[in-house]
Amino acid sequence: MDKNPTKICPQCQSEISALANKCPHCQSDQRSFFKRHPAVSVLLLIAGVGLISSIISTSGSTPVNTTVVTVPISEATINSLRKDLTSFGQGRWQDVVVGQSEYNELIVRAYALPGANTVAINSYCEVLKEEVGKYAIAKANLYIYQFGEVVKACL
Ligand SMILES: [Zn+2]
Repeated sequence: MDKNPTKICPQCQSEISALANKCPHCQSDQRSFFKRHPAVSVLLLIAGVGLISSIISTSGSTPVNTTVVTVPISEATINSLRKDLTSFGQGRWQDVVVGQSEYNELIVRAYALPGANTVAINSYCEVLKEEVGKYAIAKANLYIYQFGEVVKACL
């Protein structure tokens, strides 16, 4: 068995030492492109590193997702709010419905008494906002109803 590993010269197809830098038959350079061109290799390496780091920094600065993900409002919070708003509704609204949307947004529907005028209804919004503001709720949709219709969305 031959101790020295051999290879085939790509130029002249002769069997030569695998360690040879130069083919003894055709004198062709057997070194790899990178060994023959160290300066070019270094430049390619730097360009490659630069490219990779620019890809990494670009992906890092790209906003992943601007959608605000909120956690569901707890049953305890909903119940507590319903109790508060029912209590605050004495003389203001005849009923109040407290729930949350599929996007975890609070929904409050306060059904104003038939006699409530615009000024009163506007003040109800302030009451709702103040009460809801006591809880850590990401997004709340507050509506005043009267005669079965939304008469004011509290913004
Ligand atoms: Zn050769």
